[in-house]
Amino acid sequence: MLEKIQELEQKARFLEPDSKQRDGLRNKVIDHSEAFLESLKEEPAYLVTDDKGKALWEHPVGEEGAALADLLQLVHEQVDRPGLHPASGGHLAYIPGGGLFVSALGDYLADVGNHYAGVFYASPGAVRMENVLIRWMCDLVGYPDSAAGNLTSGGSIANLSGIVAARDAKGISSRKVAESVIYLTEQVHHCVTKAIRIGGLGEAQIRYVAIDEHFRMDPNSLAQQVKADKEAGLIPWLVVVSAGTTDTGAVDPIARIADITEREDIWLHVDAAYGGFFILCEDGKKLLKGIERSDSVVMDPHKSLFLPYGSGALLIKDREHLLKSQHYQANYLLDAKNDQEELSPADLSPELTKPFRGLRLWLPLKYHGLSVFRAAIEEKLWLARWFYENLELEIPGMERGPYPDLSVVLYRYLPQSGEANQFNLDLIEAIRQDGRVFLSSTRINGEVYLRLAVLSFRTHLDTIELTFQALKDCIQRIEKSY
Ligand SMILES: *Cc1c(COP(=O)(O)O)cnc(C)c1O
Repeated sequence: MLEKIQELEQKARFLEPDSKQRDGLRNKVIDHSEAFLESLKEEPAYLVTDDKGKALWEHPVGEEGAALADLLQLVHEQVDRPGLHPASGGHLAYIPGGGLFVSALGDYLADVGNHYAGVFYASPGAVRMENVLIRWMCDLVGYPDSAAGNLTSGGSIANLSGIVAARDAKGISSRKVAESVIYLTEQVHHCVTKAIRIGGLGEAQIRYVAIDEHFRMDPNSLAQQVKADKEAGLIPWLVVVSAGTTDTGAVDPIARIADITEREDIWLHVDAAYGGFFILCEDGKKLLKGIERSDSVVMDPHKSLFLPYGSGALLIKDREHLLKSQHYQANYLLDAKNDQEELSPADLSPELTKPFRGLRLWLPLKYHGLSVFRAAIEEKLWLARWFYENLELEIPGMERGPYPDLSVVLYRYLPQSGEANQFNLDLIEAIRQDGRVFLSSTRINGEVYLRLAVLSFRTHLDTIELTFQALKDCIQRIEKSY
């Protein structure tokens, strides 16, 4: 038996490279990431390739290891290149993500340390760091000391967790679901409707409240609908508002909606996954006024705080609701329960073991300082406005949607002849093939609109000028081909 163990140990020890080996490995990865970052400016925002990373199937996991250089080459060719480059400042589609370098360093440290951020007893420092960040966000939105929250992998999970907590707080048992009513607009993010389904609320009555010409929820329609539903003997219990819709960047009038939810004793959930951190600048703060009166808020550091993907947050005004809904009980974890100086993430979310998400957020915030983030987020607002103000001057024939609330602009090209929808679909495809910038489209009342979404920390004025140029070139090319 000893021999067997020793033989296995010899092999198993390969999992722990020594200091010199680590140095070599790290240098290769750093060289790779440096080449990647340096090439971002020249690389297209979207690269159309034939193979789309298909060669990865030719390199299955096998018994023997491989040289790191060969593996990095594979990553470069098959992963870094094809498709959308979310790290590029030219990514102006959907809701762009970030990828702060200092955040990546935080991830490196968190992974090397493998700190267990699920339970306070296990890693008090890691959990405390996450709680400091949650408290910081609660202060941002104006939540009282009773608030708590959780760092999640993103907005979808944060919305799910928040809606489930609301369900439990409002006592919507399975028997009551069918007579319970949820209010949203058709502009709500699809992860909210998904959360409703996954949260066992698929049979609830869903009311799509009317929106105004800016795509914002109409509070008068909401009030009327709630009144009608109460008179019909139904149970209105949840209003989901968007603070920055994904499609148009519209911010629902939170304060006016809070007047209604407070009066009618309805849970107010604010999905601010996209727009939440615009609260760092004065204009954003004004738009988000009333958010402090909500019961729960979702905000995504991997959107408006420029972090790499994998960072969302749920905040709940009354921590008891989140605890009651999502605390854990396990005999084998009872000793961990005795040390309750701080709340533990495992008591505030469906997760037990989870990545230490705090460090990737804490390190860039502390290193750069808030003023830098404030400047960057305000710059994004002004870039969207600059695009809006100059679009028709730069490109005759362009028609603009409403003035942007945040950093999403809607517009479309009206061709001299031919069908506008088809032209704009062709235009978006031409932009994708061109690759210098990446834009997306949407449909509003059947009309195809193009979107410009400014949120990458690498997007600056020169990117907006490049966008004008790319649009002009592509329009010219299509008009010639017709
Ligand atoms: C992006 C987004 C979500 C979903 O968040 P993920 O982080 O992608 O899971 C939810 N709501 C809004 C308004 C969003 O923009």
